[in-house]
Amino acid sequence: MINRFIKAILYIFVLAFILQGSGVYAAHVHRVQEGETLAIIAQNYGVAINEIVDKNNLINPHTIFPQQVLIIPENKNETVDIRGGSTYTVAAGDSLFKISAKIGVSMAALAEQNSLNNMDLLYVGQVLQLPALEAKEKPTPKPQPQPQPVPEHQYSISQLVKMYSDTLYLKGSADERKVALTFDDGPDDKYTEQVLDVLREYNVPGTFFLLGNRVVEHTEVVDRIYREGHVIGNHSWSHPNLSKESEGRIYNEMVLTDMIIESVIGKKPALVRPPYGAVTKENVEQLRDMNYKIINWNVDSVDWRDRDVDQILINTLPDVKPGSIILFHSAGGESRAATVDALKEIIYTLRVQGYEFVTVDQLLSVPAYQN
Ligand code: ZN
Repeated sequence: MINRFIKAILYIFVLAFILQGSGVYAAHVHRVQEGETLAIIAQNYGVAINEIVDKNNLINPHTIFPQQVLIIPENKNETVDIRGGSTYTVAAGDSLFKISAKIGVSMAALAEQNSLNNMDLLYVGQVLQLPALEAKEKPTPKPQPQPQPVPEHQYSISQLVKMYSDTLYLKGSADERKVALTFDDGPDDKYTEQVLDVLREYNVPGTFFLLGNRVVEHTEVVDRIYREGHVIGNHSWSHPNLSKESEGRIYNEMVLTDMIIESVIGKKPALVRPPYGAVTKENVEQLRDMNYKIINWNVDSVDWRDRDVDQILINTLPDVKPGSIILFHSAGGESRAATVDALKEIIYTLRVQGYEFVTVDQLLSVPAYQN
C-alpha cells in the first residue's frame, strides 16, 4: 500500500520533470499574416526589428510574405556565457554535435568527460562537465618545451574539416543562396514516403542517407527516391558509432550498404554520412581511401528528439545561411510527423527568402556516385 503510494509520487515527479523539459521554447514561432509588416510584428512581441532581422538572417526586411515563418527571439537577458564556467547546461534544440561545435570540444571528449554511453542521450537542463580548456587559451607567460600531442580521438569536427577539407564537409560555399536538405535513417514505408510527397509537392530535391538494413526491407521506397530525382548516400548498415568501431567492421558496414543500394538503383554511393556525425581522424582517412566524401551538416533540426513542429522550426531556421547543409530524419523513432509538417514551412520560408534547393553533390560540386 505504502509502496504503491511512493511509486505514484515518484511517477508524478518524473512526469512533471519531463513535461517541464519539453515545453520550454527559447523563442517564439510567428507565421506572417496578410498585411503584417516587420514593424508591426516587432511591436507586438516587444522586440526590435533588427533582432528579428538578425535571428532570421533576412536580407530584405521590407519584403515578408504571408505564411512565412519568423523566429522571434526571447528577451535578451537569458543569454549564457558558454565558456564562462566549466559546465554547460543543455538547452532546447541542443545536440552533442551542436554543443561540440559551439564550444570547440570534440564529441568524443564531451562523451568521455560525462560518461555518456549513447551519443543521443541528452535532455534539456542536463548539466555537462566541460573538459579543461586547452593550454593556449591561458595567457600564462612560461613556455613548455615539448608541445603536448593531442590524442587522435580528441580532434573536433571543425579541426578535422580543416585538416581534410577535400573529404569532410559541413557546408558548401556561401557565395550562392543554395542549401541542401538531407534526410537520415531511412527508408521506411511511412514517413520517408511522406517526406517524398512534400518534396514532390514543392519540387525540391533532397539527399537521403540510407541505412543498409532498412534498404533491404523497403527497396520500393529506395527506387522511388531515386526515380524522383533525389540523391542517395550511405549511412552505414546498422548505425554504429564509427569512432568506436574497428576498420574491418566499418569496411563491412559501408560495402554491404553500397551493394544493397547498387542492387536497387544501379549506382554506388560516393557520399557517406557517419551515424551521429561522429568520426575520428582514422575514420576520415579510411573513408577517404574508400573514395567517399563525408557529409556532415551545419544546421541540425534536432527532429529525432524534438517531435514538435515549432521547436523544429526554431532549431532550424535561424541557423540557415547560404551553403547550409540541413539535417532531418525521414525514419526511425516512433513518429516523424513533426518533421514532415515542419519541412513544408521550412521549404516555403527559405524559398521566399530567395534560397534555391540543391542536392549535396551539387552544393559541393562533388560526384554523387562512384560509377
Ligand atoms: Zn542516423
